[in-house]
Amino acid sequence: MAQLAPARARICRACDGFATAVITTGTRHCDGTRATLHVTCPACQGTGHRAPARRQETARV
Ligand SMILES: [Zn+2]
Repeated sequence: MAQLAPARARICRACDGFATAVITTGTRHCDGTRATLHVTCPACQGTGHRAPARRQETARV
């Protein structure tokens, strides 16, 4: 199946589409599950996508 839109144009460049990272802290809860931290990408606010670049950003000097 053909890709309709170029992927690079829509995926956030800062996180490469992985908008939320889960970091283990090394400790465990009482029930044995790992204590984790969820960190969202600040560039795309956790969406994984970005708005198309504006002309000012892409303009060559
Ligand atoms: Zn991002």
